[in-house]
Amino acid sequence: MKNIDIKRMIKQLPIGISIFLLSAFLRPNRVHAEFSSELSKVMTTYCAKIDAYFKKYKWGKSNCDTYKWNHVRNSVAGDPLSWVVFGNQEPGKDKKIEATMIMCGVHGDEITPVKFCFDILTMLKNSPALYEGKSVIVAPIVCPDSFFKNKPTRTNANKVDINRNFPTKDWHSHALKYWSSRYRKDPRRFPGHKPLTEPEVVFQVNLIKRYAPDKILSVHAPLTMLDYDGPSDLHSHQHLDEGANELLIQMAQKAKGYRIIDFPHYPGSLGNYAGNELKIPTYTLELPSSDPAKSEEFWVLFKDAITEAITKDLKRIKDNSSTVQANPGEAVGKSSATKAEQGADQTDQVAN
Ligand SMILES: [Zn+2]
Repeated sequence: MKNIDIKRMIKQLPIGISIFLLSAFLRPNRVHAEFSSELSKVMTTYCAKIDAYFKKYKWGKSNCDTYKWNHVRNSVAGDPLSWVVFGNQEPGKDKKIEATMIMCGVHGDEITPVKFCFDILTMLKNSPALYEGKSVIVAPIVCPDSFFKNKPTRTNANKVDINRNFPTKDWHSHALKYWSSRYRKDPRRFPGHKPLTEPEVVFQVNLIKRYAPDKILSVHAPLTMLDYDGPSDLHSHQHLDEGANELLIQMAQKAKGYRIIDFPHYPGSLGNYAGNELKIPTYTLELPSSDPAKSEEFWVLFKDAITEAITKDLKRIKDNSSTVQANPGEAVGKSSATKAEQGADQTDQVAN
């Protein structure tokens, strides 16, 4: 039905009813609009593709077609770079809304994180209380081109590692240099010829700009650790962001004392861009393995940690406490830094 017909219809109704109908018609769908009654053609096709991979990995049903997907741009090979928002749809415009952004499937050869994000979608769908008065943004397959392959790859269709292509301040001076010296031009870690050349990176940068998240969780595998970048970075111990550090410890505790490791910043990585430069607490969860058969096990292990990450209101904690100078002998910094020093050499070659 065309707009003009609706307007004509409304004109013939009593004024009070007309105003009500017109406002309902014009009002954007903001609250609890995360479940879809109709899916775009593009997303219907994409959900069928997702379902086929769920079948391949014996993951059961994805329920992909039950969510209200957002989609603006496509991957290099043309799949929709899509995301779902639970709760408040525009947290960036309301400074009081806590927004948590969760991203999976950044490296397509890390299979388990994709199922992990769909488990998060299911949990949110079944427990609206988790995001009441909040906003949770979930992008479950950030790099579809690397995931939807017979032999999934780390890099995207342009053969770029999208976790090295963020426009960080050190990109021009260090990204290619680091790639050739440290990684001996390993094609799996190619950062691109320039920063921000890849649609999957533009996608993430725009999501961050649009929703202004208070924290970001990026799920990878298989390094078996939790890494943190952001205010009060473990490197510097300069300013303690109480809530962000508290959450780091709580997440580890809720996952049977999962190991916290302070990874170095890489030129062009999300942790460097969002955590180090934009000062958004950014948590990189590295699941213990990429084996699709272990997905259920990992969800059981981390479900409470994810619940904590979604429900913890970092904005409120930050607003209620003034910036406190860190004491390097206390909080998470010291103990984890020691682990970091031990762990860095072992894990450096397989960096997230
Ligand atoms: Zn990764």
